[in-house]
Amino acid sequence: MTTPDLAAIHKARETIAGIAIKTPLVPSPFLSARIGSEVLLKLDMMQPMGAFKLRGAANALMNLPKDINGVTCCSTGNHGRGVAYAAKKLGLRAVICMSELVPQTKVDGIRALGAEVRIVGRSQDDAQREVERLVDQEGLQDVSPFDDPDVIAGQGTIGLELMEDRPDLETLIIPLSGGGLAGGIAIAAKAVNPDIRIIGVTMENGAAMYHSIRAGQPVDVIEVGSLADSLGGGIMANNRYTLDICSHLIDETLLVSETEIYSAMQTLFFEDRLVSEGSAATTIAALLSGRISQPCGKTALILTGRNVDSKMFASIIAGQNLDLGDIRIKGQTYG
Ligand SMILES: *Cc1c(COP(=O)(O)O)cnc(C)c1O
Repeated sequence: MTTPDLAAIHKARETIAGIAIKTPLVPSPFLSARIGSEVLLKLDMMQPMGAFKLRGAANALMNLPKDINGVTCCSTGNHGRGVAYAAKKLGLRAVICMSELVPQTKVDGIRALGAEVRIVGRSQDDAQREVERLVDQEGLQDVSPFDDPDVIAGQGTIGLELMEDRPDLETLIIPLSGGGLAGGIAIAAKAVNPDIRIIGVTMENGAAMYHSIRAGQPVDVIEVGSLADSLGGGIMANNRYTLDICSHLIDETLLVSETEIYSAMQTLFFEDRLVSEGSAATTIAALLSGRISQPCGKTALILTGRNVDSKMFASIIAGQNLDLGDIRIKGQTYG
């Protein structure tokens, strides 16, 4: 397989049309006023399983041979839920492998879709070892959360929608983990406007792609608890696609702190009445942190997911302290 191009992303859009939806791009008057230029929010958290990952998962599953025994994957939660959702639609067996760091709410969501769940170890690498065992012993097909051309093309359909809705966009701010999302969007958006500025955002602890781009090769990270739990995990030592794509097409990568993510989740709720998980709120955190050089011009933030634990979300809205196992975040009331 080769790196997807614009044609592959157009094809992916047709392929996933019956499973994933086209999502709204809405203005944020509050953020626009704060930044002094137009800020739009791409609500991909409104996909039926609560995150954009349905796009890539649906495209990958639709392109598999028809005679397979079923699918498996490692996941920080949302990819597994996307695979489970698409597998249910297609009548396929799905076994989702996750580490103990994945929040219970995400595990429950996957089980509710009828998929089998395996909890193994403390990292994505541990979960991936179980995936490899299932491939060897049960003949299941491994669907990578990011390093797969069909997954990248599926995520890239967000870029098509953005550039069709607003061809005048100048900056895209995208959460960055394995890089399937930012890579796919960048391929689509830069094919339309080569000058568009692409900014990738990750949390400070465990920023695998951020460090790998700087090192020019995959860098291992230690996984710890984070509000941006969906951005956890490495980029795979044998990364084939996303490191190359992200190194070439992402203009800037930056890190945000847990406190900044916490405030960003509050901002999104109090100003725009949107419920997001921490990973999605990293984009707001980046914009409000002052670390992005202005002007950004017309800017779209990709809000990637809303699969956040309700109790934890309520604590954040109430400004309470949070204990995420490895780390503690000091609460603060909004405003
Ligand atoms: C997976 C995920 C991301 C990051 O996508 P990558 O393709 O791994 O870079 C961002 N936000 C959410 C909610 C996710 O689930």
